Amino acid sequence: MATTTAKSFQNYIGGEWVDAASGETFETKSPATGETLGVFPRSSADDVDKAVDAAKAAYEEWRLVPAPRRGEILFRFGRLLADQKDEVAQLMAREMGKVLPEAAGDVQEAIDMSFYMGGEGRRLFGQTTPSELKDKFNMSVRQPIGVVGVITPWNFPIAIPSWKIAPALVCGNTVVFKPATDTPLLGERFVELLAEAGVPPGVVNIVHGGGGAVGDRLVKHPDVPVITLTGSRETGVEVMRNAADNLKHIHLELGGKNAIIVLDDADLDLAVEGIIWSAFGTSGQRCTAASRVIAQDGIYEELQSRLVKAAEQLRLGPGWQDGVDVGPVINQKALEKIHSYTEIGKDEGAKLLTGGEVASGNGLSDGFFYRPTIFGDVDPGMRVAQEEIFGPTTALIRVRDVDEAVRVSNGIEFGLSSSIFTRDVNTAFRAMRDLEAGITYINAGTIGAEVHLPFGGTKGTGNGHREAGQAALDVFTEWKSIYVDYSGKLQKAQIDTAS
Ligand code: NAD
Repeated sequence: MATTTAKSFQNYIGGEWVDAASGETFETKSPATGETLGVFPRSSADDVDKAVDAAKAAYEEWRLVPAPRRGEILFRFGRLLADQKDEVAQLMAREMGKVLPEAAGDVQEAIDMSFYMGGEGRRLFGQTTPSELKDKFNMSVRQPIGVVGVITPWNFPIAIPSWKIAPALVCGNTVVFKPATDTPLLGERFVELLAEAGVPPGVVNIVHGGGGAVGDRLVKHPDVPVITLTGSRETGVEVMRNAADNLKHIHLELGGKNAIIVLDDADLDLAVEGIIWSAFGTSGQRCTAASRVIAQDGIYEELQSRLVKAAEQLRLGPGWQDGVDVGPVINQKALEKIHSYTEIGKDEGAKLLTGGEVASGNGLSDGFFYRPTIFGDVDPGMRVAQEEIFGPTTALIRVRDVDEAVRVSNGIEFGLSSSIFTRDVNTAFRAMRDLEAGITYINAGTIGAEVHLPFGGTKGTGNGHREAGQAALDVFTEWKSIYVDYSGKLQKAQIDTAS
């Protein structure tokens, strides 16, 4: 499709589809073929301000809509998404590049989250507690906060918006959503379906454009008390700094450098399957991707040769084609970054076992394809073992025993996902306790979160919050404690201790 014939899309503000105030646009392209998929408004601070005004006005009514009714809208949204699951997955394979089964999984996660948070409309539990005084009633309740700024990356373009927008809405907040500029089409579809499900005008608004313009204004806007961002560590730090003057609630889900530990007693067939899936699924562009494999001496050589063989059998191609295991990476910049780490690894003395090059020919030359890459003999301190590459590259590290394995796994600045393959239940329980990460898998890869459990990381992966599960509600509500005195007299807490 030529650029000029690609469909144009707009922002959605206060229930109206509108162009950017500046009239400027940008294109979204398929990373597999370079085909232009759509033209989007390149918005600026003016557009953000309009969206925030709309969200602020809508908040006054939305916060008073009974939570079960808000939840029903999410149920309708979940059903619409389920009806269109195949079509949205196809779109994702084209715009973001994932292979179809993974794209369908991304959509399924959003369906699950919508139903889970829809049900929360009938819970949103607070607490009632006894009072220290007679004839007095105490309770705590969750209260919505206001306008939430939702800023998302491109790698889970339907799932991640749902992790943020579904809980924000059921709690009674309104939203201004800025999707990544690599996946605006999926962001747009997400909001279209929300509107179709019955979200009132102004309750959810979408403003397309870059982080430096749209994202930055959202972060600094005084009428946006909550920012929820998933992205890189660098962006997270900048956002936190920029929001400091307004003392905003900042929820950050950032990078990872996740490891799979394989001990001598592991089921190696299972471990190989888990590693290949975790390292090369979504072309390694998952925050929970296994970019390190920590292998015990006794199985190191065997594991290495099996991994290389399995990696070399993976088929690259456009995500929508049958039989493709690994799609493209997101863009030229990502391709260059991934390749630069191959050079860094070689310079550092790691052994390149397979991959390490851009894949071309056989219909791959128009896209951004990189061969699944494995480094062996990696020292835990090397940059390829410390820094997030966000591509199909993993580093094999040799250790003597489980204590060293856990030390190496923990020896990074991030703390998102972790995994251990062992048949020893005592070792597994020690690892569950000692691995410094928000998520630990036993005898599974580093991938596979379910929406009803908290999701997020320790250390440099975030700032202590979690999304998904009940924990997400803490991001989108404030606790209010309420004391009701029905004694008819002034009772003084901590003073009238004798009553
Ligand atoms: P990114 O940090 O470049 O961008 C994320 C979003 O932030 C985009 O929408 C971007 O436009 C916006 N942004 C950039 N600068 C901004 C600024 N100054 N102010 C406000 N907004 C700004 O990340 P990406 O390349 O889109 O995604 C990949 C990163 O996301 C990886 O580091 C990955 O680990 C991380 N990630 C984390 C999780 C998690 O749950 N922990 C999940 C998925 C991805």
